[in-house]
Amino acid sequence: MIDRGGLSVSQGEFGHAVPVRPAVGSGSAQVPRCCPRGHQLRIGGAGNGWSHFYDLPDVTCRVCAALGNGPATWCLINPTSQYPADAAPVRGLALVVFPPSRRGGIGRIELRLNTRVTGEVHLAACGPCRRAVITRVEVAEAPVSFRRLGYGRVLVAAALARAPATRYRWSTAALPDTVEARAFWAAIDFPGEVGRPGYCSDM
Ligand SMILES: [Zn+2]
Ligand SMILES: [Zn+2]
Repeated sequence: MIDRGGLSVSQGEFGHAVPVRPAVGSGSAQVPRCCPRGHQLRIGGAGNGWSHFYDLPDVTCRVCAALGNGPATWCLINPTSQYPADAAPVRGLALVVFPPSRRGGIGRIELRLNTRVTGEVHLAACGPCRRAVITRVEVAEAPVSFRRLGYGRVLVAAALARAPATRYRWSTAALPDTVEARAFWAAIDFPGEVGRPGYCSDM
């Protein structure tokens, strides 16, 4: 399933889909510490470029490129750059936010590629109670799979950017009982309770 997904995005309309990671800190063109495979770029070497496909800065790990095993280039997206729907870019990869209509209600953030929704995260956050809950993370699998590219990771980072973990107690709703869901949450560094939602009375 994983490999099939990888193949389907490597062809046709989405022929240049490379992995995406949240940019850390401000200035999205900065070089991160490690590549997705864990090579320290300060030692292995890195190159900066621009993805016209995503309309985002990209980074190439020179070790991965020289070894030739899998994609050596990935893009960086700033998780705090979130557009309202009426101002969303029509080109490239962008986060589009739909805030809840009331405090503690469920809002969502979409990750759009050339206006197409490729994934979304649903969340509830309550400022007075300092609680925030991710109720759903979904990345499209059909007709074209966008899984295994880091989109889910970017969506979770975008959710966290709306309610900083330094002030909010984060948690997630109960996970779907699938190995994919467990693998996803086990692979990302989520600063909260996974699978045990800490709702407040406003939610
Ligand atoms: Zn590498
Ligand atoms: Zn509350």
